[in-house]
Amino acid sequence: MKACKQCKALVKNSNKCPVCGSEDLTEKWYGLVVILNPEKSELAKLLNINVAGEYALQLE
Ligand SMILES: [Zn+2]
Repeated sequence: MKACKQCKALVKNSNKCPVCGSEDLTEKWYGLVVILNPEKSELAKLLNINVAGEYALQLE
């Protein structure tokens, strides 16, 4: 699984980020964050996430 360098979304079986459409992906990431309700999640606000999904906590 890869992570998008632009928005940190995790990308499965694709070379394109489903959230922002970027093709700038990396395999070097740490920490899995699942955001279910971005509008209600303090963590989502902290990480600047507006779309529900799985995200990497940190990129190398
Ligand atoms: Zn992205």
